[in-house]
Amino acid sequence: MSFLHSRRRFSLLAVAGLFSFVSLRALTPAPPARLTCTVCRTEFVAHLAGSGTQTGMRLDFRPTGPIASPWTLPECPKCRNVRFGSEGKPLAESELKSIRSAVQSARFTHLPAGTPTYHRLAVIFEAQKNSPRELAMTWLAASWQWESGPNRAAELECRKQSARWLDRHLDSKTATGTTPDFEAILVRADLHRRAGEFEAADAWIKRWSAHPAFRTGLAPRMIQRQRELITARISTAEPLEPNPGTRTTTPGKATRLQLRKPVSSGSK
Ligand SMILES: [Zn+2]
Repeated sequence: MSFLHSRRRFSLLAVAGLFSFVSLRALTPAPPARLTCTVCRTEFVAHLAGSGTQTGMRLDFRPTGPIASPWTLPECPKCRNVRFGSEGKPLAESELKSIRSAVQSARFTHLPAGTPTYHRLAVIFEAQKNSPRELAMTWLAASWQWESGPNRAAELECRKQSARWLDRHLDSKTATGTTPDFEAILVRADLHRRAGEFEAADAWIKRWSAHPAFRTGLAPRMIQRQRELITARISTAEPLEPNPGTRTTTPGKATRLQLRKPVSSGSK
């Protein structure tokens, strides 16, 4: 199975099954959804993204093209909660309790107005003690959301948080053992480069580039591109390919993205 289509690739791109990258012909809004907040019971109408077209991706796996990236999350207009049941399934009572506690915490209520949804989600997930990998990817998605605004400090801070949790994740044998966690490893390289840590990025790439798992699928191209940028001391967000072709996938179960534990069996 190719790297691009591996479950690992998909797992990176979603947070808790709340969003999925389904590439269709154009970015179209979904019909407005009427939701009830799981924390304060406020009823509201959410305008979420429908389908989109992914034409490429960046070295941090952010999909590019007319597509919601990251996927839109509903947000309660009153308490700013962003955790709702996914795919029509209600949340368990124990989880609702921990979400309520996180949303009512000082850390959450003191978040400034305009804090994007994935930043809020990351704060909730940290309170819920979710896995380091899930936290790393949620903070990464939050940094993508900050990119569209003027707050560079917040964007940078989210990338730092992502790197911190990735380091925690990559300390574990599951992430770097016989089946290395490609995405986490490649995202870590990109975060080193984005932070201007070129020597660390170079060493990290050197450490992994010879691994058999990195000789298939997209990995060699990603590594090559990363090397070029590191050599040129470029620290901006960069696409994997300057002129990518359009990749179309069909929505369905196979494209439902879940960010849970890394897949332990070989899928490359
Ligand atoms: Zn609410």
